[in-house]
Amino acid sequence: MVGCIFCKIAGKQIPGKIVYEDELVVAFEDVEPKAPVHILIIPREHIPTVLELTPAHKEALFRMHEAAIKIAKERNIDSRGFRLVMNTNAEAGQSVFHIHMHLLGGRHLSWPPG
Ligand code: AMP
Repeated sequence: MVGCIFCKIAGKQIPGKIVYEDELVVAFEDVEPKAPVHILIIPREHIPTVLELTPAHKEALFRMHEAAIKIAKERNIDSRGFRLVMNTNAEAGQSVFHIHMHLLGGRHLSWPPG
């Protein structure tokens, strides 16, 4: 979508440290990492929030999880532990309205989150 920063990263119109991509999803380093491993995994399709998901997105959602698992293994955080987070709307702190899964790991992650 025009003006969406994550569409621009996926389309290579602006720089991003892409660590994985296929025809459905793209994964890149978060510009302000909150943990030693902080990767954002997005569908190429512009979907503003999880509230707009439909059964047509099943494959992309599965691929996002597959990418997260692959990256977690590559970064050696799979058995240590990691967290997958999708913030939705204001009270959860969503700031970019193109759905994205945060892959966080490499340190102890407290629970519950703030
Ligand atoms: P959220 O607050 O859940 O919407 O997460 C948005 C995330 O996108 C934040 O962790 C930001 O640090 C990250 N972010 C914003 N702009 C960029 C960018 N250009 N490249 C990489 N990460 C970004």
